[in-house]
Amino acid sequence: MNLTPYIPYLKNIKTPFYFYDTFFLESHLKKVKKAAEKFGYHIHYALKANANDKILHIFNQLDFGADCVSGNEVKKAIEIGISPKKIAFAGVGKTDEEIIYALNQDIFSFNCESIAELNVIQNIAAKLNKKAPVSLRINPNVDANTHRYITTGLEENKFGINQWEFDTIIEIIKNSPNLDLQGLHFHIGSQITDMQVFKNLCSRVNEIQKWFYNHNIALPHLNLGGGLGVDYENPENINFPDFDKFFNIFNSHLDKIAGQQIHFELGRSLVAQAGVLISKVLYIKNGINTNFAIIDAGMTELIRPALYQAYHKIMPLENKNTENNIERYDIVGPICESSDTFAKSILLPKLNRDDLLVIFTAGAYGEVMASRYNLRDLPKAYYADEFS
Ligand SMILES: *Cc1c(COP(=O)(O)O)cnc(C)c1O
Repeated sequence: MNLTPYIPYLKNIKTPFYFYDTFFLESHLKKVKKAAEKFGYHIHYALKANANDKILHIFNQLDFGADCVSGNEVKKAIEIGISPKKIAFAGVGKTDEEIIYALNQDIFSFNCESIAELNVIQNIAAKLNKKAPVSLRINPNVDANTHRYITTGLEENKFGINQWEFDTIIEIIKNSPNLDLQGLHFHIGSQITDMQVFKNLCSRVNEIQKWFYNHNIALPHLNLGGGLGVDYENPENINFPDFDKFFNIFNSHLDKIAGQQIHFELGRSLVAQAGVLISKVLYIKNGINTNFAIIDAGMTELIRPALYQAYHKIMPLENKNTENNIERYDIVGPICESSDTFAKSILLPKLNRDDLLVIFTAGAYGEVMASRYNLRDLPKAYYADEFS
């Protein structure tokens, strides 16, 4: 993302705030779409990465489906105009209310995460006299090789149905007239940068699919989830992730049944690089080994560093050309928590009070996770297309 044309506007906005390059987002999404369409793949955008109306409208205009993990996300997707026929609903803890709502909207698929959930959906669907389209979210026990808090496909994780439950599952499906088994679903984690992981996933999916096939179950849909990572170290490297390479892996390694539709649920890799958080230096405090730059954004605006020890590159908004005036800083927020730290011991041109800093690659799992802890105001968002 090139912020230069927007600096005159950005300098005059009250900090902290999010800025989204809607032009970048659109062109990025068009590229992704093209890469997926080459193989006839369907993409459901994972709303939980960023559920801003403006951003969702761009997804809808470009005809993306939605992947939702709460009833309110399903509702939001429908309000934006996304067809229910393109909405998948996942999550380990769907409430009765959410299930009733989604059933009445005739969504594409309930991605079911447990035996107990299948039974509940059967009961609710029977009462409503509906047939519920369900996919089984399988826990394939594949290591995503990412931070353990965003690993979801190992047996120790709470997500998905495990292989030892398959026989029971088949019995339940047979005896549940209101469940319509549509597919298998997998989502093994997030911020996956090691492409070998997706090859491993394909091998497991092939084995699992074969098991079902041998039990006379051929499924019309396979959903491989999301999880593709982005390059947080180098925000200017917008070519990672390489979507051609990503989809090619599935095309070469997945044994698909004739006519089967292949779905993905990407979140981060679609929006992360389109957003930044802009914050102002409030105070400089000199420490022993480092200086503290206390800024007006904190874990309330962007929790990823505090929650997952995530790295975000930070740079001054304006290049001050002070090459021989480099200092070491911890960039910290104002919240009363020691984990409220954006970066430790980084080198930056000497900072002063009121300098503006850009925290890059904040378009995914940023604003959407903002909180009012310490009774702070929620951050506002601004968009490139408002400034031109
Ligand atoms: C979070 C999530 C996604 C999206 O993950 P990304 O890493 O943002 O691509 C996809 N599917 C499910 C079920 C999820 O929970």
